Amino acid sequence: MKYYNLKDKTEVVDFKTAAIKGQGKEKGLFFPEFIPQFDKDFIENLYQYSDEEIAFQCMKDFVGDTISSDVLKQIVSETIHFEIPLKRINEQMYSLELFHGPTLAFKDVGAKFMSRCLSYFMSNENKKVTVLAATSGDTGGAVAHGFYKTKNINVVILYPKNRVSEVQEKQLTALGENISALEVDSSFDDCQRLVKQAFSDDEISSTLFLTSANSINVARWLPQQIYYFLALKQWKKLEKENPVICVPSGNFGNICAGILAHFRGLPAEHFIAACNENDVVPQYLRTQKLEAKETIATLSNAMDVGNPSNFIRILELFNYEFKQLRNKISGYSIDDKKTLETIKKVYEKDHYLLEPHSAVAYTAMEQYLSENPGKKGFILGTAHPVKFPDAVEKATHETIDLPESLESLMKKEKKSIEIQPDFAELKRFLLYKNQQEL
Ligand SMILES: *Cc1c(COP(=O)(O)O)cnc(C)c1O
Repeated sequence: MKYYNLKDKTEVVDFKTAAIKGQGKEKGLFFPEFIPQFDKDFIENLYQYSDEEIAFQCMKDFVGDTISSDVLKQIVSETIHFEIPLKRINEQMYSLELFHGPTLAFKDVGAKFMSRCLSYFMSNENKKVTVLAATSGDTGGAVAHGFYKTKNINVVILYPKNRVSEVQEKQLTALGENISALEVDSSFDDCQRLVKQAFSDDEISSTLFLTSANSINVARWLPQQIYYFLALKQWKKLEKENPVICVPSGNFGNICAGILAHFRGLPAEHFIAACNENDVVPQYLRTQKLEAKETIATLSNAMDVGNPSNFIRILELFNYEFKQLRNKISGYSIDDKKTLETIKKVYEKDHYLLEPHSAVAYTAMEQYLSENPGKKGFILGTAHPVKFPDAVEKATHETIDLPESLESLMKKEKKSIEIQPDFAELKRFLLYKNQQEL
């Protein structure tokens, strides 16, 4: 399998190069040259396969010959090394709970796969890679955890001071070892700006071997297909009709992986892109005009994205056929007030605890189902409610207990380095750290 750059189709690379580089020339995203199809028998008989085997089948064509089968089997089994249950919320709706991994968010899946691949690719190189990432909360923890104690890889994460939840901050700052957390006295947008600047700085790129760990990296994007198939395996035991699949979306990597799975043969009645007030895609689906916007801060902060990077991959999958895309995907934009009302309602009526991201998905799905009676489906539960205690407690007036795994983490010491949103400070840190390593 080869990947081409969506901005310059003459740039063609293999999986290893795409995973190490993160993105192509002119910041173009890499895209697979063809979409490998599953045969009907495999889909019909999913229940006969182990989760590890399904995960292996999902990934093998995409990594091609850059990773041997034995190693890939090991990597995928580590990637899905936690429970991913499809839980019933009510008669019409289920939740695919993707939050039982080490940092309690779905990003653990992509971050784990990417970190195992990079560590494998770098194990025979005698240089170190620095993974640089900005986070608004969940990415940082998942990436830090995924790369923790990985040989030849240093991780530097920038996060906005006072703007991530307490749990999220501990997940970033308490690990130490090869993980450095830079606490930026500013907003997430500034963190992202600093990271972008570092990637385009000549001195940094000639001294350090930098790579990015955000969701445009194919090694983070592609493994997200796996759990759509694991969901289908469970769905078929419960329901006859094909599911409507509703994905709480920000940068659109997750839903794009679901649509990719669908193009490979995953039966799905329909997809719903559930957004908060950052409604670039729902608006596009109404007007056919794609316009980036200023980011609006909401309760579902991991979806506060005004210019969703992965949406272009969805356009490419549909070959830019607007009608076909419109027939398969609906978009909804849900505000904070409605999000809190939904958390309260679902907790009281269905005794199911949502957090802001999954509540956005629930609300969008509910609207779709009321417009399309008789259908059923599942939402993707992308984070554990304990990561967003303020919103959850505000809506339900209940306090939520920390899971055991978090209790010990919360007792650990926070280790971060405070910097101003000033590129010179970041640059000094990166170059100094590199010196120390040599
Ligand atoms: C990142 C994130 C999302 C959005 O996923 P995208 O792939 O960026 O669309 C949704 N929910 C949670 C909890 C997240 O952390």
